[in-house]
Amino acid sequence: MNREKVLELKELTHIYVNAAGAHLAVNHINLTVNKGEFISLVGPSGCGKTTILNMIAGLISPTYGELSVMGEAITSPSSRLGYMQQQDYLYPWRTILQNVKLGLEIRKEVTDDSDRKIIALLDELGLENAAHKYPHQLSGGMRQRVALARTLITDPDLLLLDEPFSALDLHIKMQLEELVQSTLDRLGKTAILVTHDLAEAVAISDRIVVLGRNPGHIRKIVTIPRELRAAGPIEARKHPEYQRCFDELWHELDEEMEKEGE
Ligand code: ADP
Ligand code: MG
Repeated sequence: MNREKVLELKELTHIYVNAAGAHLAVNHINLTVNKGEFISLVGPSGCGKTTILNMIAGLISPTYGELSVMGEAITSPSSRLGYMQQQDYLYPWRTILQNVKLGLEIRKEVTDDSDRKIIALLDELGLENAAHKYPHQLSGGMRQRVALARTLITDPDLLLLDEPFSALDLHIKMQLEELVQSTLDRLGKTAILVTHDLAEAVAISDRIVVLGRNPGHIRKIVTIPRELRAAGPIEARKHPEYQRCFDELWHELDEEMEKEGE
């Protein structure tokens, strides 16, 4: 595997300060992500997953520690990053083409060739006839594919995915996992996925970062065997190693929950 570093988090720490006081949300997170890797973040609600993504995205600043993408310190939202959230945030009055183009408009990167590129990308994502439709004419799974297209059209080095599949039916969700993984692999993209679905994390990731809370910290990083990752998310679920990885994660989170109960 290519060992080029895409993301480096060193001692990353965030303290929220508001009228109620100071709250240590995440504490001393160390993580290096290499080019082409698919990383999942799992952990109980409130362990700091969104806080970590928001710091990587440059939306909030670390209180302490360092963060760099492709060797450059992140101090504000960067064009190297694409952020896809659970809600698709498509504008209902814009066509699919115009919604995807928004990704380029925000960055002032629209050219004469943009429409052609967008339509080619929509084709690749199985949205051949969607360009001139409106969001309400598409299913939930199709809308998430449009959101993915809007994230990919700017050619980011790193994709941040905050539970993008969680509102979808299982069958659609698995198809979308398959599409996301194969598309990112083909384009050589690096991704960080936040998910509460352990089965999904095992099926799609190279490594899984298990977080604990109070304050948010890394409990363990589970490396998924290559055979599983190579199989793709649907086939991976049938692989003999799959259950072992799932159990390892389950055990780790179970211990975290027990710790809370003390
Ligand atoms: P997760 O995404 O894993 O559920 P978050 O990153 O949203 O966790 O939150 C981590 C911790 O920080 C939680 O204890 C949460 O209550 C707290 N928190 C999140 N956002 C804020 C904020 N804007 N102000 C104060 N505390 C916050
Ligand atoms: Mg969250």
